[in-house]
Amino acid sequence: MRLDAIRALHAVVGLGAGVAVTEVSDRRDGPLPVGIELVRRPCCEGCGGPVWAHGSAKVKLADLPAFGRPVRLGWRKRRWLCPDGSCAVRTFTDQDPTVAPPRARMTSRAARHATRRAGAGRAISEIAADLGAGWHTVMAAVHRWGAALLDADAGRVEGVTALGLDGILLFRRGRYREKHWGTTIVDTRRGKLLDIVPGRSAQGATRWIEARSPRRRRRVRWGVMDLSGPYRKTFTDALPRARQIADPFHVIKLANAAVDDVRRRVQNETTGGRGTKHDPLYRIRRLLLTAAEWVTDKGRHKLRGLLAAGDPRGEVRDAWHAKETLRGVYRIPQHPLAVDTLDELARDLQDDTFSPEPDKLGRTLAAWRTQNANWHRSRVTNGPTEAANNLAKLIKRVSFGNANFDHYRTRVLLYAGKPDWTCSTHSPHAKTRRAGLGRTKSRLRLPAPLRPVWVLLRHPVPGTGWRSIRWRTPRDVDDPLARSDLHPGAGRDSRDFPAGGRGAQAP
Ligand SMILES: [Zn+2]
Repeated sequence: MRLDAIRALHAVVGLGAGVAVTEVSDRRDGPLPVGIELVRRPCCEGCGGPVWAHGSAKVKLADLPAFGRPVRLGWRKRRWLCPDGSCAVRTFTDQDPTVAPPRARMTSRAARHATRRAGAGRAISEIAADLGAGWHTVMAAVHRWGAALLDADAGRVEGVTALGLDGILLFRRGRYREKHWGTTIVDTRRGKLLDIVPGRSAQGATRWIEARSPRRRRRVRWGVMDLSGPYRKTFTDALPRARQIADPFHVIKLANAAVDDVRRRVQNETTGGRGTKHDPLYRIRRLLLTAAEWVTDKGRHKLRGLLAAGDPRGEVRDAWHAKETLRGVYRIPQHPLAVDTLDELARDLQDDTFSPEPDKLGRTLAAWRTQNANWHRSRVTNGPTEAANNLAKLIKRVSFGNANFDHYRTRVLLYAGKPDWTCSTHSPHAKTRRAGLGRTKSRLRLPAPLRPVWVLLRHPVPGTGWRSIRWRTPRDVDDPLARSDLHPGAGRDSRDFPAGGRGAQAP
């Protein structure tokens, strides 16, 4: 059999017929160098006419590993000159987004591969080691391609009928390790993480929901949350038609917290200090929080004995009974009976015989009556939200102390958001250089429409020097710089502007 070396080389490198492999070095150490260039001679991007060669530049790109070695692709990008003096395009270089988008430091296929692996929960450092690339190169590629995939996958947030909100600790940052919280937004029916927004206030989640179409919002029938005021406000404001549900896990967690609070207070009062390992109540601190059906006979015996020894007024016992009664309510199958029992419990806890902690629990139960009753009616839980939160926390551990919210969001959504990976062929780079706009390096960034922005205008005033005016654009102006009437001297006296200006000097 005769082996055609060139064809074999092309098959192994696998970049298609348009790419010629010009070099594969046998260097032993470091990444395997592979040289490529485009076969096709392009036409002018502006006028479509023939072009002249105008030198070349070599671009190094991290590529997929081959035969257990990282690969470094050296792409000789040729530069082309348009000989037509009237054409807007003077020179341009070879581009092929199937190999790599402009200004990327990794090939498209390596970036897709890295994104896929980050979506499987792998650490960026691990992916970077395999590719022989830097951490920042890989993270940038994952963020760019991952965000493009999530944007392209519009169906991801479709068809939601039950929406869950929950808080999550994102990271600690700054000198005092300040806590930064986020809110996870979950499709609780399908257990899918829809998005994660910064902050635990009502604002972030409300904005997110309001950004969906009215049709999508109307389809949401249930809004599930922990007992948090801000999320209740979010549902009331953004999804007024959805029924609000308080998640049983959080309700029972609150009852457990009440038991623990009473235990600690009584312990303090009877022993005059924090619990030690010999104090009766301290010894049963975990047993008190264990579900009654999981406590063994020996455990029961211990509970009874140590409660008798350390709980003279029976306050801890009462709180424990309140907790178990509340748990029992969630096992009642008929919903009217469950709701009645819950009402009765809330009333009982608020009477004088109970200590302040169960009393507070009773008041909370009364305040969240509708949301609790709705759970018994629908049985929609926030369990999938908690599950999604667990997945999010896993990424947090994998990414050790990563404190970049956007990077974190992309990685978490790739991992727990069940994206449609078939959208990943979408190239994240729109071509930024267009004919006629040729050599502008940085493009003017215009503010997003419908958002007022502050514009600082400075102009000379004869005799007094400069005068500055800060001016707030109205909501309906997309591009404040495009309005000629904003320019002082263009027919309108700047002193007529509303006095928003802190920087304004008296003439
Ligand atoms: Zn041209």
